[in-house]
Amino acid sequence: MAGRETKEAFVTLATNDTYSLGCLVLEKSLRKVGTTRQLVVMVTSGVSEPMRNQLTRVFDLVQEVNLLDSKDPMNLMLLGRPDLNVTFTKLHCWRLTQFDKAVFLDADTLVIQNIDELFDREELSAAPDAGWPDCFNSGVFVFKPSQKTYESLLSFAITKGSFDGGDQGLLNLYFKDWSTKDIARHLPFVFNVVSQAFYSYLPAFKQFRQNVKIVHFIGATKPWHHTYNTTLGKVTALPGTGHDSEFLQMWWDIFMETVQPFLDSSLGGLVGE
Ligand code: UDP
Ligand code: MN
Repeated sequence: MAGRETKEAFVTLATNDTYSLGCLVLEKSLRKVGTTRQLVVMVTSGVSEPMRNQLTRVFDLVQEVNLLDSKDPMNLMLLGRPDLNVTFTKLHCWRLTQFDKAVFLDADTLVIQNIDELFDREELSAAPDAGWPDCFNSGVFVFKPSQKTYESLLSFAITKGSFDGGDQGLLNLYFKDWSTKDIARHLPFVFNVVSQAFYSYLPAFKQFRQNVKIVHFIGATKPWHHTYNTTLGKVTALPGTGHDSEFLQMWWDIFMETVQPFLDSSLGGLVGE
């Protein structure tokens, strides 16, 4: 056990200030459940200076990732494939080789219960995607940082591409035996509960919702897009997003209590009321 606290990390990503709000809530949710591991956020040039300052205050490490760093020959190969830029940004997590193991979490995830047990899993562990359960959802995954794997993933991306244009299609092709090889690499669904689940199998959702460890607000509408009534302290879920109002309220309670009061005034306009 000695040293694991410093050699293992949760990693998230923001390419702009709005996704950074998600990272700030995620950070608080992880602290709230008493994680003992390091918290890392990767940022690109799209994140403003005041937001970086805020992230620096709460994360253990803010790692700048440069999309088109000409000193990196792998990145040079990207110049011809601008379509894959966002995909590649997530892949930078494999370069955090100061850590022995890490868990990537999308900025639109919220941790409800302690998930440090994930570090007992091997690369690549992830939960099934609700839309096609033979694929894993890449919003939550356990991985082992390695420069070699990073380069291998990049050249794979350049030659084979991604069948959905994003990181999920790419990672599912690269780790293609995930669905059949080793059940230990299948994380239980409670580690990445997406909003469709609330609709597609409501009785299961009712039965097992107290076991949920991570909620993932997938889709174009994110928690910060919903309307929040400051007088009542309640969020009104936009129709048709599938976001559960109780989980959404949890996100907003953390945001209003522990994130919003500390935001630089120049960042005030990021969320609507
Ligand atoms: N992301 C980002 N900026 C963007 C889009 C995505 O920083 O403009 C990061 C962020 O961490 C986000 C993740 O990439 O959570 C995956 O995108 P998203 O969660 O929007 O995809 P979904 O889960 O809805 O498929
Ligand atoms: Mn997501």
